Amino acid sequence: MSMDPFKKTPPKMAALIRMMKILDYQVARCSRCGACQSVCPLYDVTRNESDVARGKLMLLDGLTRTFFNHPEGVSERLNRCLLCGSCAIACPRGVNTIEIFMTARWIMSGYRRLSPVRKAFFRKVLANPALFDRLAEHGARWQGLFLRQNSPAPGASLGNLVSPPLSHRNIVPLAPAPFHKIFKRTIPAKNSSGMRVALFTGCIIDKVYPHVADAIVKALEHHGVNVTVPEAQGCCGIPALSSGEHTAFAQMVADHLTPFDPSGFDYLVTGCATCTATIKTLWPAFFNSRFVSTTASQESTVRCISEKAHDINAFLVNIMGVTSAGKPPFNAHAPILTYHDPCHLRKTLGVFSEPRILISQNSAYRFMEMSGAQSCCGMGGSFNLTHYDLSGKIGEKKAANIEATGAGVVATGCPACMMQLSDMLARRGKNIRVAHAVEIYAEKLAFADGV
Ligand code: SF4
Ligand code: SF4
Repeated sequence: MSMDPFKKTPPKMAALIRMMKILDYQVARCSRCGACQSVCPLYDVTRNESDVARGKLMLLDGLTRTFFNHPEGVSERLNRCLLCGSCAIACPRGVNTIEIFMTARWIMSGYRRLSPVRKAFFRKVLANPALFDRLAEHGARWQGLFLRQNSPAPGASLGNLVSPPLSHRNIVPLAPAPFHKIFKRTIPAKNSSGMRVALFTGCIIDKVYPHVADAIVKALEHHGVNVTVPEAQGCCGIPALSSGEHTAFAQMVADHLTPFDPSGFDYLVTGCATCTATIKTLWPAFFNSRFVSTTASQESTVRCISEKAHDINAFLVNIMGVTSAGKPPFNAHAPILTYHDPCHLRKTLGVFSEPRILISQNSAYRFMEMSGAQSCCGMGGSFNLTHYDLSGKIGEKKAANIEATGAGVVATGCPACMMQLSDMLARRGKNIRVAHAVEIYAEKLAFADGV
């Protein structure tokens, strides 16, 4: 591993023009049919054609000209996107809109440069897990000074920021102890199946929802899986990649190749839909010599890790064989539980029946499908930070659909969605528990195992 991406010269004009040619080729597949319009959650609330994939692709079609004339405007339009992938799966021509938007953001940041603060955050904090951990631990200790407790939902407290301009946000606080401080590095299975899994925790589960990582480990142990939680793991790189910060992204991927040496495990498992989608699709698409300085050996390792990466729901159902055949009888008196499909799980990875199979195993709840379960919750990573008003309008619809089921619990498969659902439900004054699907499954196992 001799590469040091920070030493790589930032993209110069020739490299940008080369990337624009890649983009031109991809954009040319779009026939302007408009099938992506009706599925775009942003268009649903703005009714603005320029927010739809077709509008963005038309902008990118003339990128060389528009971009040099008005780079700020191009950048603003590109950033008005949740990167949810709804357009990609609706597209009859198979246009890979997500890769196109990521490449375009990459070109933009190469030309305009990110602000020094954002660049420092990606390169010095997110790409430095030890420093990120320390900052998060200090944050957990002092967050009481900045967060006011509001009405807690069962299982998760929420706070409002003391700062008046931000006090309307309902924030899930950092956990007192992150998962990386409480886990055992290697957890041998009780009745070992011989299967070896490396757990990629992901930043949000590690620092906000460590009990979700606990539930994952319990479920894996129950199925006889030996779990290893490799040291020195950090962010999967999606915040940097979606901001066009290719240097930090390349560093984050490169830093995981040794701790997640694929010869040491059969599967890599995560409980974060976004981490799984990033590792499976974006690592191989962007960590290669077309975009960054890599070696053939690194690219081959990335491909191997990506093939072994599984979402926890998909792993338990498709690899460990949990089926709906073991489903307990319907209990008409149990509280209602509904499920929200994270975009990165359903649209990017095609995983939607698996979490439903897992939650149906727990007879303490009665499952009820909500209307629009597959529609975006409005989180969209940094979109929520930069376009909170639009994120809220999309999230309000989701919260109303959850409420309409009469559910006391909403399960999902992505910690970022969990944060958004908690915020949106609290905005409506609803005391509905937000949980990960694997938590619901692990509760049933704990009961069955007498734990
Ligand atoms: S990724 Fe989502 S928000 Fe962005 S253009 Fe496509 S459908 Fe719209
Ligand atoms: S659905 Fe596909 S081909 Fe049709 S306008 Fe959208 S991106 Fe272009």
